[in-house]
Amino acid sequence: MPFEDLHLSDALLKAVADAGYTEPSAIQAAAIPSVLMGKDLIGVAQTGTGKTASFVLPMLDVLAEGRTRARMPRSLILEPTRELAAQVAENFEKYGRYHKLSMALLIGGVSFGDQDKALEKGVDVLIATPGRLLDQHQRGKVLLSGVDILVIDEADRMLDMGFIPDVERICALLRPERQTLLFSATMPAPVKKLADRFMQNPKVVEVARPASTNKDITQLLVPADPHHKRDILRRLLHEAGDSVSAIVFCNRKTTVRDLAASLKRHRFRAGQIHGDMEQADRIRELERFRDGDIDILVASDVAARGLDVKGVSHVFNFDVPWHPDDYVHRIGRTGRAGQKGSAVTLVTPDDEEAIANIEKLTSQKISRAAPLPEPVREPAHPRRKRPETHNETHNEPHIEPHNEPHREPGSESRQESRPEARQESAAPSAAARRPTTSRAGAQAGTRAAAASGKPKTGQRQPLRSAATETTDPPSAPGFGPEGIPAFLLVSASRR
Ligand code: AMP
Repeated sequence: MPFEDLHLSDALLKAVADAGYTEPSAIQAAAIPSVLMGKDLIGVAQTGTGKTASFVLPMLDVLAEGRTRARMPRSLILEPTRELAAQVAENFEKYGRYHKLSMALLIGGVSFGDQDKALEKGVDVLIATPGRLLDQHQRGKVLLSGVDILVIDEADRMLDMGFIPDVERICALLRPERQTLLFSATMPAPVKKLADRFMQNPKVVEVARPASTNKDITQLLVPADPHHKRDILRRLLHEAGDSVSAIVFCNRKTTVRDLAASLKRHRFRAGQIHGDMEQADRIRELERFRDGDIDILVASDVAARGLDVKGVSHVFNFDVPWHPDDYVHRIGRTGRAGQKGSAVTLVTPDDEEAIANIEKLTSQKISRAAPLPEPVREPAHPRRKRPETHNETHNEPHIEPHNEPHREPGSESRQESRPEARQESAAPSAAARRPTTSRAGAQAGTRAAAASGKPKTGQRQPLRSAATETTDPPSAPGFGPEGIPAFLLVSASRR
């Protein structure tokens, strides 16, 4: 079906053509006509399906009529995180380039002053996180009685983050006869209850999970000793090549910080993003990743939820996510817009149950690589002296001794109070230690040289998929002599 059949204005058709879209996605085709008719809508869909345009496009045309009033936004979009709010704002700018609509972003971590000014002028579209919106409402800076269209995006994530009471409070402040659009990857009972309470006879549109249907993402599980996860990750990154563009997901903020620092010490161009960072720092890291200034972004789920970065070649799950839904979200960061991508998950013996839950949710058996040869193990030594040339303060690499296990922090160093932080800091299962043997490849990495002189690449190209050579070992073709996929037979040793 062409976009022309959706009864969108010429201005929108032009903007959509500028964006390079040839036809609407399934959620767009199903949702746009209903939204244009003013109906309430539940979209059971997640990022990667084109769901943002499914509400932004019709909203632009609906809002083209009418005018703004000071402090009374005409439409409101609620997002669970600042990043998603900023991303939706970008979408408004992209699709609304031929419309003359005003927009404001109300998100935590940004000064009240600028937000106050924008609200004072009056806005057609207000994109907000629930907490900051309620703050501004209490300060009398925003009146919600003029909102004709409400969008509750990522409702299941709002639930995970403890925002549903705030969302309910906001809904109660709006006119009952408004139009409400709710999007959620899943419909757990509290989200359903929210919909029942605040929506009128909604049309329900459901589209398939991208992860279970997206054939462009090759998935692989790599068995990992919990004490060698960093080493294994480095080997995989080496093998992925110099043009890798990877997001590495960890379950906890402390792991994000430690792993990003470790990768940098090993001369990877890595950055980090997690829920404890200042908004300006998060945005800066994302921009560095988008621009290709760094090629590895170590991330927590909260910060990376729904991020839309073009050309991410690999997603690595350094930790298996605790919630199977998060797996689906994580791997959906790659293989976007028809490009190929790889999703590689390190699996320790304690992760088997979480993997089984993921496979159940996605109705998909994920291929497993044979265990990697373990790194060379130095004979037990009283204390290994760090080479003098490896000076961390000057960003020189230091090699983590292979016989020094990587320790995951056992608990967060401080009490977390925000729901977002609480979710990231829940304790994972303890990692089991296995005896090590001494087997390793011999190829030295070349990344150090690349890191020092790598040209900045604006356009990311997906590279050969790390997982494409694998399937159920050892019978599949393309495997090494020991049933190990060829791409995994690479030493990460940088001596
Ligand atoms: P979303 O699910 O809203 O996060 O969108 C995922 C990606 O799909 C974004 O990069 C959009 O720019 C892109 N996209 C949205 N609609 C279309 C379309 N009709 N054709 C191609 N790409 C699209």
